[in-house]
Amino acid sequence: MIEGGCECGAIRYETAGQVTDFSHCHCSQCRRLHGAPYVSFAGVVLADMTWKSGPGALRVYDSSAKNRRYFCASCGSQIMVVSAEEPDVAYLALGCIDGDPELPDGYHQFVDSKAPWVNILDELPQFPEAVDE
Ligand SMILES: [Zn+2]
Ligand SMILES: [Zn+2]
Repeated sequence: MIEGGCECGAIRYETAGQVTDFSHCHCSQCRRLHGAPYVSFAGVVLADMTWKSGPGALRVYDSSAKNRRYFCASCGSQIMVVSAEEPDVAYLALGCIDGDPELPDGYHQFVDSKAPWVNILDELPQFPEAVDE
């Protein structure tokens, strides 16, 4: 069971499903939207998710023609990204997930857009742009 939520507590979710995809995204949109050096995501099956509180507090921002970002209207926490190319997958912002979820092997994507002051120090695979799976 994976549980998570936003900073203010308005939004809480859980999923009984497994994390099927674990990525660190260095694209400029993720960096700006999360105010972070890069953003880690846990891909889960969207239909497996249950909103325990506050789904009505979710707001959406279409950061591109295909990517819809969901965030908390009260505190601004970025909750997840859903892509029109994979509408059945929720890419949860891993920083909003509680505890230590079981994760598959990770990778870095959009490394060509990496912040110049970030050094990638792990041995995970690096992809210059998006990863097609
Ligand atoms: Zn919130
Ligand atoms: Zn990104």
